[in-house]
Amino acid sequence: MTDSRTQATTTVRRAGAAEQPFHYPLKREFVEPDWRRLPGFRDATRTEWESALWQRKHTIKSLKELKEALGRLLPDTLLAGIERDQKDRATMSLLVPPQMLNTMNLEDLWNDPVRRYMLPAYDDREPEWPSHPKAQRDSLHEADMWAVEGLTHRYPTKVLAEVLSTCPQYCGHCTRMDLVGNDVPQVEKHRFEVPQKTRYEQILDYLRRTPQVRDVVVSGGDVANLPIAVLENFVSQLMDVPNIKDIRLATKGLMGLPQHFLQDDVLKGLERLAKKAHERGVDLAVHTHVNHAQSLTPLVAKAVRRILDMGFRDVRNQGVLLRGVNNSAEALLELCFTLLDHAGIMPYYFYLCDMIPNAEHWRLAVHEAQGLQHDIMGYLPGFATPRLVCDVPFVGKRWINQVKEYDRDKGISYWTKNYRTGIEPDDPEALTRRYEYYDPIYTLPESGQAYWRAWRARS
Ligand code: SF4
Repeated sequence: MTDSRTQATTTVRRAGAAEQPFHYPLKREFVEPDWRRLPGFRDATRTEWESALWQRKHTIKSLKELKEALGRLLPDTLLAGIERDQKDRATMSLLVPPQMLNTMNLEDLWNDPVRRYMLPAYDDREPEWPSHPKAQRDSLHEADMWAVEGLTHRYPTKVLAEVLSTCPQYCGHCTRMDLVGNDVPQVEKHRFEVPQKTRYEQILDYLRRTPQVRDVVVSGGDVANLPIAVLENFVSQLMDVPNIKDIRLATKGLMGLPQHFLQDDVLKGLERLAKKAHERGVDLAVHTHVNHAQSLTPLVAKAVRRILDMGFRDVRNQGVLLRGVNNSAEALLELCFTLLDHAGIMPYYFYLCDMIPNAEHWRLAVHEAQGLQHDIMGYLPGFATPRLVCDVPFVGKRWINQVKEYDRDKGISYWTKNYRTGIEPDDPEALTRRYEYYDPIYTLPESGQAYWRAWRARS
C-alpha cells in the first residue's frame, strides 16, 4: 500500500538558487590592471604609480599626451574623433589621470565604457540632435539658486556648497560644465567673482543665520583638488555651526585618483575631521561618483577602507546613467555589487544625465530609466538598492517613477514638488505647477520627432 504522506514529501519542490537574468557571484576579477600595458607608462614604478604627485603630473591634458600614453593602442580614427569633438562639441577639456586611463579596455577603446564618457569622440554624439532644444548650460539652475556665491539653496533643509571649480579629472557629461574646468572652444566657463576666502566666509555666515539648513554637500568641482588644510578649515567651521548635522564631501577623485586619499597629510586632515564630527554628533560622509565597475580597483578600495576606518559615517556612490556606459541592468548590478563586495562603497543614486548641451547621446529617456529601476530590484540588499532619479529643473531630485504625467510621443514628462526652492518664496504656484523634463528626441516615435523638427523650424 502506498503511504500518501511519504508520497507528498517526496514530490515537494525545494527552493534553491534559480537561473537568473543577472548572474552572481561576479565574474570580473578585482585586480589593479597592470599599468605597464600603457606604452607611455611602461617604465613607471609602483612607487610612482601610487604617488598622487606622479599621477597628477602625468594626467592627460592634451591629445599629444593621450597619444604618448596610449601609443599604438589609440586608433587613429579615435584620436581624430576626440580631436574633432574637442573643437566642435566638447563642453569639458581633456583631463584623465593615468589611474583612470588604466581602467579602460585598451583592446577596444572605441567601445570602452570609461572612454565613452571621459574621452568622448565626435562620432559618439547624436548627429541630428547633439543637444536637446531645451538644453541649458546650467541646466539645474544651480547658480540661479545661489544664496551667496557658490551656495545653492534649492531644498528646504540642505544646501550645496561649490567650494572650487576644478577636479583631478574632467568628465565629458559634467552637469556643472557651466562653471567647472577650463574653457573649451564651445564653452567659455563662468568664474567665481568673489575671492575664495570671502566666499567661504559668506557661505558660513549664511548657514549661521539660516537654522532651517542642517545638511551641507561640500562639492565643486571636486574636493580632492582643494589643499587639505583649506578643506579641513572650511569643514571644521561648518561643524561649528550648531544647525549643521550632516556633511558630505563630494569627490570623484576617490575613484579617479585614489592616490590622493592615501597621502599622509590628507589622511591626517580627514582623521581630525572625523574625530571632530564624532565629538559634535555630526554625520560626516564621502560621496563619490563611479559609473562603471571597471573603475573600481584595489587602490580605490584601500582609500575607502582608510576613510571608513577613521570614522567617516559612510562612503556612498552617486553615479550617472549614461548610454553606452552603464545603461543596462547588468552593468548597473555589476557596478553595485562591486561597490559593495570589494570597495566598501554604498550604492546610493543613479541620476539621469542632465540636459546640458551636446549630451543627447548619453541621455536616457525617462521610461528607459524606469525599466532599469525595475530590472535591478530584488538583487541587492534593500538598503543598497540605488534609486534612479531625475533631477528636474526648478524641482530637484525625483524618483524616476514619481512622474506625474508623461507624453511619450513628445518625450515630455511632467513633475511636481512639495517644497519651494530658494528663489520661490513668494511664488503662489510653486507647489501646484507642473515642471517639465524632456527625453532625447531620437528616442521618440517618428511622430514625436516630427513635432520637434517642426518646433525647431518655428523657433
Ligand atoms: S568630477 Fe564631477 S564636477 Fe568634476 S568634471 Fe566630473 S562630474 Fe564634473
